[in-house]
Amino acid sequence: MKKVIIFDFDGTIADTLDAMVAVVNRLAVEFGYAQISPEELSILQKLSARDVIRYSGISVLKIPFLVKKVKSELKTKIPDLKPIPGMQEALYELKNQGFRLGIITSNSQENVLEFLKINQLDHLFEFIYSGVTIFGKTTIINNVLRQKQIKPENVIYVGDETRDIEASKKANIKIIAVTWGFNSPEVLAQQKPDYLIHHPQELIDVITQG
Ligand SMILES: [Mg+2]
Repeated sequence: MKKVIIFDFDGTIADTLDAMVAVVNRLAVEFGYAQISPEELSILQKLSARDVIRYSGISVLKIPFLVKKVKSELKTKIPDLKPIPGMQEALYELKNQGFRLGIITSNSQENVLEFLKINQLDHLFEFIYSGVTIFGKTTIINNVLRQKQIKPENVIYVGDETRDIEASKKANIKIIAVTWGFNSPEVLAQQKPDYLIHHPQELIDVITQG
């Protein structure tokens, strides 16, 4: 059976870091945290999602409102976002080789679909699932596998954050961590992903050999 490759969206397929930082900085006063300077961004990239929140000092109670606001503000930026260089080619190649492709994201399904359509990538994906939890994708990964009757050993997850590695390990699926997104290569390596790659072209090698 051909493997199912599940992708994270933000930072993995789409280059959303600058847009995300701009939105988060614009909402700083309203939500009571400090704006992120370029120096601070490199500190944050070495932290897990949990530690980013701790570091920011934002009230946990405000987070659901912040997440909702960030998603709706990001919506206006979708037409300006670009895929990670080399990602379109890698996705087409994987699809051509017969792999099944899907997305699990904490962004909204609407935002992801709009981006994929604009960049002529929507037809490559069999499913897009959106999860509301900011701390873990394990539940949603498990639900997708159950619904689609896919065995964990036939799945590979591709993501750019330490929480993607954690979620995949908990769901007993293989994880390819990518260094072109949010978290730094060092912090990703510490979480011991099955593979750590630096360019989308490496996806083909790892997936066809793995
Ligand atoms: Mg991501």
